Amino acid sequence: MTESNGFYQEMIDQFLKLVRIDSVSGEEREIADYLAGELKELGMEVFEDHAGVVLGTGTGNLIASWPGRLEVPAFVLVAHMDTVVPGKGVTPVIKGDAIYSSGDTILGADDKAGIAAILYALRRIRKENISHGPIEVVFTVGEEQGLEGSKSLEKDRVKARIGFVLDSSGEVGTLVVQGPVQNQIEVIVNGKAAHAGINPEDGINAIQVASKAIAGMQLGRIDGETTANIGIIQGGNARNIVPERVYIKGEARSLVAEKLKAQTEHMLERLDSAAREAGAVVEITAEELYPAFQLEAGEPALAIAEEAVRRIGLTPSREKTGGGSDANILNGYGIRTVNLGVAMRQVHTRDEHVFLKDIKLLSDLVYNICLVASEGGR
Ligand code: ZN
Ligand code: CA
Repeated sequence: MTESNGFYQEMIDQFLKLVRIDSVSGEEREIADYLAGELKELGMEVFEDHAGVVLGTGTGNLIASWPGRLEVPAFVLVAHMDTVVPGKGVTPVIKGDAIYSSGDTILGADDKAGIAAILYALRRIRKENISHGPIEVVFTVGEEQGLEGSKSLEKDRVKARIGFVLDSSGEVGTLVVQGPVQNQIEVIVNGKAAHAGINPEDGINAIQVASKAIAGMQLGRIDGETTANIGIIQGGNARNIVPERVYIKGEARSLVAEKLKAQTEHMLERLDSAAREAGAVVEITAEELYPAFQLEAGEPALAIAEEAVRRIGLTPSREKTGGGSDANILNGYGIRTVNLGVAMRQVHTRDEHVFLKDIKLLSDLVYNICLVASEGGR
């Protein structure tokens, strides 16, 4: 077996080992301890931040660093440690040229393919004794629960202003350079209860108010950059009671902050006017879940990623996404961050899988990102 084959097998074994460690969101202790051990063995300084205390789960984000010898800008490699459910007792199965779960659980390539690639790249950098600048690693908790871990990251502990998140489902070579801002909207419509047969005129029908408001809303794909949805509506107590209370939950997303603002205002205006018309009262909470980001052509994070993609023989593909990831949060902290395609497939399902060749490609990509960044991004 050649050395590159040996490396290759090591990479696959690392991935199989990671997916066998249970780490559903909120239960990241075991994998955090394992990874802290691996990072320390690489000679990194490892710190577990306060996110475990803030979130009440007991496990924080891992922040690790190598000072490096070269005076080039620091960069940070990021992946999340948690998985969705059903994610306990994952038994990986190699079928043909891909790795699946046994079918009872997810696989957890989201995001352990990213973690495996980072560990591989760091080990290889060390083994080949490559001179590099400051390299940091952040392994987050609670990503699948609304980016909770990165939101409570002790961000001042991260020195890098350039970041690479490994958590997009795109092909290896995909560089997500633009992500949306998202608002969550929660509404309670307060009408007035009355007997439906005896004195309905004394009631205010909260279901009807909500229906009118929603029927008047523009939802779905608003334009090329903006989407909106009402996802939950709950209310009413009995057939013969004019319903007093309705709960509505929805969202709006846009790549452009002003468009998100306009769409959110439109939805709230519909609710307000339907309520006013009927004499109902609405309580509205609109909350920004994560900020938007956009990287510009030629800026260091993007230039490094593109050069690294070319060096592994692929063509970089700049893309935008409709979803949120740790990249939104890091960019919000001023760490210019690209989200890299990990080529994980059918994520969040029992059919989740990843091709062996993509694990290798991704690992080579992260290794090359380290090389290009060490050359000062050239
Ligand atoms: Zn993920
Ligand atoms: Ca996910």
